[in-house]
Amino acid sequence: MENCDALIVGGGPAGSSCAWQLRSHGLDVMVMDKSTFPRDKVCAGWITPAVTEALQLDHEDYARRHVMQPITAFRTGLIDGGDVETRYPTTVSYGIRRRELDNYLLQRSGARLRQGEALKSLQRDGTRWIANGAISTPLVIGAGGHFCPVARFMGAKLGATEPAIAAKEIEFEMTPAQRDDCRVRGDTPELYFCPDLKGYGWCFRKGNYLNIGLGREDNHLLSEQLGNFCDFLKQRGRIPRDIPDNFHGHAYLLYGHSVRKQLDDGMLLVGDAAGLAYPQSGEGIRPAVESGLMAAATIIEANGDYRRQQLQPYANRLAARFGTAAAPAGADPSPLRKFLAGKLLGNRWFTRHVVLDRWFLHANQAALQTT
Ligand SMILES: Cc1cc2nc3c(=O)[nH]c(=O)nc-3n(C[C@H](O)[C@H](O)[C@H](O)COP(=O)(O)OP(=O)(O)OC[C@H]3O[C@@H](n4cnc5c(N)ncnc54)[C@H](O)[C@@H]3O)c2cc1C
Repeated sequence: MENCDALIVGGGPAGSSCAWQLRSHGLDVMVMDKSTFPRDKVCAGWITPAVTEALQLDHEDYARRHVMQPITAFRTGLIDGGDVETRYPTTVSYGIRRRELDNYLLQRSGARLRQGEALKSLQRDGTRWIANGAISTPLVIGAGGHFCPVARFMGAKLGATEPAIAAKEIEFEMTPAQRDDCRVRGDTPELYFCPDLKGYGWCFRKGNYLNIGLGREDNHLLSEQLGNFCDFLKQRGRIPRDIPDNFHGHAYLLYGHSVRKQLDDGMLLVGDAAGLAYPQSGEGIRPAVESGLMAAATIIEANGDYRRQQLQPYANRLAARFGTAAAPAGADPSPLRKFLAGKLLGNRWFTRHVVLDRWFLHANQAALQTT
């Protein structure tokens, strides 16, 4: 039997951020992931500066060996409608590749890694948990994404009754001919909303890589809308005509759309496992990182006593940062506001100050500070 102070299930941004912070306070942390890193993750790969700041990421060091595309503008509009370009005087976001960023953060965390191993069983043994019959720990942190087995253990009805966002995406390296045919610029990602405003498509260029995808509130229209979106981009001459068609799908919860238990005796959920993505934009990396860091701060304060009431400050921190699940901060626009937003999407002031600054960049919320 192996022992550790904390077992983190899932080595994505939520798990690795939590591990990094716990390790910096001297805890013996183990991260278990069913994949071996670097691994692919279905994601557009867009992060805001608040993420790199909270993670104290050394931009120069990271960009030396990884794709890190500065973003200084956005092109936005409606699929089949007009569009608007909004430029900023400084870098407001970055385009990264998830297989690179996630691997970098996991290796940097300094945790002991068990890669290529899925969590299959959890048993209670006094005040400790026994994972897979082989690891004994007083604390299990569920960071396994939307289908996290720890969330399931805590009672989440994965995929059954939860209203998840369904999304499909492709990321591929363009050939020289495709690069010539691609009019999407690296510093200006393109976002186009579905006509019913129930989702949006994106097209991000990161160096020689192109990432195209679409996410929606309803799964059944996803493939059809994605097809329309790709046709629209091709007709406008934004992307090459011969893009591959092996799109990959994934689902995740928006905060406030569904309620998952966040903690229990000797157990916490972070990131997508807790269903924390921002409701307006679907951005999930920032809440994943911030929840991982807030979980770590709570664990350090609990000082080895991981009963539910000692872990309650984690839920309080989440509520202070993101609002409560019943009343999330900056909740979804109401149907009326959505209707108005559709009418106003071509308006430059509305696009900059509401759609981009407020819904997508969260410009009013400073980076999370941790000690
Ligand atoms: C198509 C799409 C595009 C997106 N684009 C963006 C974007 O541009 N920007 C943004 O901020 N957010 C985006 N998101 C959301 C974002 O990807 C997630 O919110 C984010 O990855 C959550 O991080 P996480 O660490 O909680 O989970 P994940 O990144 O999902 O990591 C979970 C880890 O757990 C492991 N795991 C799963 N099950 C087990 C198991 N049984 N045992 C052990 N390990 C397990 C997995 O292998 C994985 O490595 C997008 C999501 C989708 C679907």
